[in-house]
Amino acid sequence: MDKKEKEEKLNMLHKTVRNIPDFPIPGIQFKDVTPLFKTKESLSTLTEVLLDEYKEMGITKVVGIESRGFIMGPIMALELGAGFVPIRKPGKLPAEVYEEEYEKEYGMDKIQIHKDALSKDDVVLIHDDLLATGGTMLAAYKLVSKMGVKKILVNFIIELDDLNGRKLFPDEVEIKSLIHYSV
Ligand code: AMP
Repeated sequence: MDKKEKEEKLNMLHKTVRNIPDFPIPGIQFKDVTPLFKTKESLSTLTEVLLDEYKEMGITKVVGIESRGFIMGPIMALELGAGFVPIRKPGKLPAEVYEEEYEKEYGMDKIQIHKDALSKDDVVLIHDDLLATGGTMLAAYKLVSKMGVKKILVNFIIELDDLNGRKLFPDEVEIKSLIHYSV
C-alpha cells in the first residue's frame, strides 16, 4: 500500500469513529469503535491498515486485552499466521494464571493471562482498541514481559495523544496507533 492510499484509508477510518460526549460519565469524550466493525468496507480497511504495520515482523502471538481487544486481535492473528492469547479480568481464565494489579481512575484493578500461553520464542503483539492514560496496557506489557518472550510490540486503533499514555513505557517499546485524537 503506498503512502497516499494509506492516508486516504486512515482518513476514512478516522471519520467512521463515533464520538459520544459525556459517556459513561460527564466530561468523557467516548470514542466508539463499533462503527469501524459494522460494514464490510470499514472492517476490511481497518484490517488491511493494521496488517500493513506488522507484516514481515515475525509475530507469533497476538495478545488481546478484554474486551475490545478481542475483536481485531484474532483477525490480525489469523492474517499474520500467529496464535491469539486473551488477557482477561480476574475469575475468567480457567487454568493457572499470572496476574498484574494496576491503578484505575477509581481504585485498583487486575488482569490475568494463562501461565502456559506464551513461550520464550514468541514475538508478541499486544493489541487493544484505545490508549488513554495507558494504565491498562502498561499492566498487560508488564505481565507479558515477566513471561520472558523474545520481543513485545504494542498496538492500538486509537490514541488520545494529550493523555500521554505512551510516556509510561520504556523507550525501546514500539507503540503504534492508527488514529490520533487530542482528547
Ligand atoms: P487506559 O488504561 O486509561 O489507557 O484506558 C484504556 C481502556 O479504557 C481501553 O481499553 C479503552 O477501551 C477504554 N477507554 C478509556 N478512555 C476511553 C475513551 N475516551 N473512549 C473509549 N474508550 C476508552
